[in-house]
Amino acid sequence: MERIDWDTPLSAFPGVGPARQRALAKLGLERAGDLLTFYPRSYEDRTRSYPVAQAPVGESVCVEAMVAQPPRLSRIRRGLDLVKTRAVDDTGALELTFFNQPYLQNALRQGESYVFYGKIDLVGGRRSMTNPVFEPASRRKFTGRIMPRYPLTQGLTNHLLITLAQAAVEACAGALPETLPAPVLERYRLPGAGEACRQVHFPESWAALEAARSRLAFEELFYLTVGLSLLRKRREAGRGTALNTGDPKDFQALLPFSLTAAQRRVLDECARDLCAGPPMNRLVQGDVGSGKTAIAAFCLWRAARSGAQGAMMAPTELLAQQHYQTLKALLEPAHVVVALLTGSQTAKEKRAIKAALAAGDIQVVVGTHALLSQGVDFQNLALAVVDEQHRFGVGQRSALAAKGVHPHLLVLSATPIPRTLALILYGDLDVSVLDELPPGRQPVETYLVSERYHQRLYKFIDRLVEEGRQVYVICPAVEEDPEEGDPTLKSVEQYAQYLTQTVFPHRRLAFVHGRMKARDKEAVMAAFAAGDIQILVSTTVVEVGVDVPNAALMVVENADRFGLSQLHQLRGRVGRGKHQSYCVLVSNTQNPETRARLKALCATTDGFRIAEEDLKARGPGDFFGQRQHGLPQLHLADLSADMRLLAAAQRAAQDPYLQRPEHQPMWDRVRQLFQENPDIFN
Ligand code: ADP
Ligand code: MG
Repeated sequence: MERIDWDTPLSAFPGVGPARQRALAKLGLERAGDLLTFYPRSYEDRTRSYPVAQAPVGESVCVEAMVAQPPRLSRIRRGLDLVKTRAVDDTGALELTFFNQPYLQNALRQGESYVFYGKIDLVGGRRSMTNPVFEPASRRKFTGRIMPRYPLTQGLTNHLLITLAQAAVEACAGALPETLPAPVLERYRLPGAGEACRQVHFPESWAALEAARSRLAFEELFYLTVGLSLLRKRREAGRGTALNTGDPKDFQALLPFSLTAAQRRVLDECARDLCAGPPMNRLVQGDVGSGKTAIAAFCLWRAARSGAQGAMMAPTELLAQQHYQTLKALLEPAHVVVALLTGSQTAKEKRAIKAALAAGDIQVVVGTHALLSQGVDFQNLALAVVDEQHRFGVGQRSALAAKGVHPHLLVLSATPIPRTLALILYGDLDVSVLDELPPGRQPVETYLVSERYHQRLYKFIDRLVEEGRQVYVICPAVEEDPEEGDPTLKSVEQYAQYLTQTVFPHRRLAFVHGRMKARDKEAVMAAFAAGDIQILVSTTVVEVGVDVPNAALMVVENADRFGLSQLHQLRGRVGRGKHQSYCVLVSNTQNPETRARLKALCATTDGFRIAEEDLKARGPGDFFGQRQHGLPQLHLADLSADMRLLAAAQRAAQDPYLQRPEHQPMWDRVRQLFQENPDIFN
């Protein structure tokens, strides 16, 4: 083939026809350059070579031996071919079996020496290998070294990917531009870009692999940190509107309860931010039920009192409605005009609200992401509040802020995040913590039970419903999955049907899950909030924000399927009113570690401790992986293990020499990495 460069399509590589091309595209691989950042998921140690007689049984190793007899092809049945032969060295004989590779009959030659790499089995007292990788002993490319194992998909073999990656790395790694500034490389003793690329695919040693991996993870964290600091700097360069009319004491007078000490402290922190000078840029983290809405209400009240406008964005329609009701009741007596804007309003309603917002007749607007749509313009938006931040990306946060000129930004989050992770997810924000619950809350009693307990659990549910309470039942799946091996796995649709027909025919029961139409979902949730539904079977869609104080029992089926933080969040849906509330975790798991984690949840209600436990047990995926955090993807950095790297990357990102003009390419790269979120740098 012709010379390979970065843009060479993979279809030009030998062995890649249309079918494989499609399979490769599924993995995001279209051009040679794509292979360079397609990192192995693990490695095979093909360095150790043994004489046949000493090859350790059960381990994968290399054996150099000569093919001693012509390979025999036999057809066992349709679709099952077998090639068998035997290879020998001075110490003994190795039986070789290959499935469905009939061409090997001619490829393996009697009398030639090969290196075979595979797992050693003992069959009838003889050492054997099934489907080993092999190559002539005189020309070693695939054995005698550490080899990558790539993520695969149907129709691709690891061997093909190795062949492609070898060609691509050989041709392109040398031309990789160095994107880390030279002083950073030097100070942290990191290998260069090309070297790191070569070693991460085809490492010369485990130490070289570790160095390469560190460099690439460092790079990811470094760029993330630099990008976040850039965001922060842009905001700090602006000047916010002074929202300084309104004493916290006068605000207290509007409330039906007295603020907790933690709420007063955070209110003061916000009050100090809401001045002229750099706009506020604050995250308020507080456990479920800690009273974050009051903090938002205070800031919005300040905005209105100071002659400006404020907007609050919530992730669901139901939550937006709830906030609207709360803020209206609180602020209207103080002559603040509060409005609601959501997607389900009629075009006419929306038009009227948009006009009033543009004219400045509305001072506080609450809404869903409908607030971000075109045509929503403010006369003077001086404060943007984003509730339940983890449901939004950084881009949406910024998009709301972009509706004003350097507005103050207040972000509320109930997902307690370990400090180290907060540094990344919210690296551009100041953090306040509401670490106190309002007085009089009865802690939710939490129990771990097995499936055997179901009959008693159903009686308990029935008794609470009889007393007028409402109940959530959470299942991990939406529908039954025939592939699923666990017969106890509950799915929302089937379990709801079972409960309605067999257990609770006399109760009002409904179900809700994320695959339903938004309108149907909202209708069920509204009926539950209104008390018309007594038992709600659901996936974790009820996880965020909904406030139904009459709900007193949270049942989580297959509790071992959930992360602790998620369970904690679910538990936060009950215990919001005056009734003693309960959380029952149902699980048959015998895994001692899982049981210990679930027991830990029964014993504590401290969301931050739970989050730390979660991070240790499951890694950062729950906080970071699936959520649309809107930041560049981390491929190699493992946040639970790479904390030292993160600290180093953060130190490096703050170094003033980065401001020197020769580092312009690095800044360009930062902008490019964040460009999937065009609003970010507005
Ligand atoms: P979250 O932090 O989960 O958003 P909310 O702001 O929804 O919590 O508050 C939960 C409940 O606690 C609401 O019903 C609210 O009225 C009530 N609440 C908030 N602060 C106090 C307080 N200081 N004293 C008593 N009740 C409070
Ligand atoms: Mg809330």
